[in-house]
Amino acid sequence: MEKTLAIIKPDAIKKKLAGKIIDRIYDKNFNIAGLKMLHIQENQAKEFYKVHAERPFFNDLVKYMTSGPVIVAVLEKENAIKDWRNLMGATNPAEATEGTIRKDFGENIEANAVHGSDSPETASIEVPFFFPD
Ligand code: ATP
Ligand code: MG
Repeated sequence: MEKTLAIIKPDAIKKKLAGKIIDRIYDKNFNIAGLKMLHIQENQAKEFYKVHAERPFFNDLVKYMTSGPVIVAVLEKENAIKDWRNLMGATNPAEATEGTIRKDFGENIEANAVHGSDSPETASIEVPFFFPD
């Protein structure tokens, strides 16, 4: 069984969309192996998104990801990484496919409701980042 890290981002938590997003996760037959709500600290956000450190949107991204609580979860199924990315939709909600979480619940390219690991290598870093046990 493959594992991936999901984050329900601050915009979606503020809009009380967590239940709807978790329903979609269960509807696609993921198992939720771990789940918790937390408030990401600035140093954690910088570390988590360090691949984007040189991008012009990095400081805004760190501010946004620390602007309120998030829910982090470990999703488990065969092909969990790709299947979760497909269910999320494209980074920019305006370009996301109909029926995806970002299309339905994302506000803009930054406040796009959810995160998902983008490869097995990334998942193997991101899952223990929030779930060290
Ligand atoms: P994530 O890593 O959050 O799952 P992603 O893999 O689809 O998203 P990345 O390119 O890794 O997209 O970007 C990480 C996050 O940075 C995006 O989800 C979004 O919140 C923010 N972001 C990406 N591109 C932009 C941009 N051009 N302007 C503002 N914010 C952006
Ligand atoms: Mg990414």
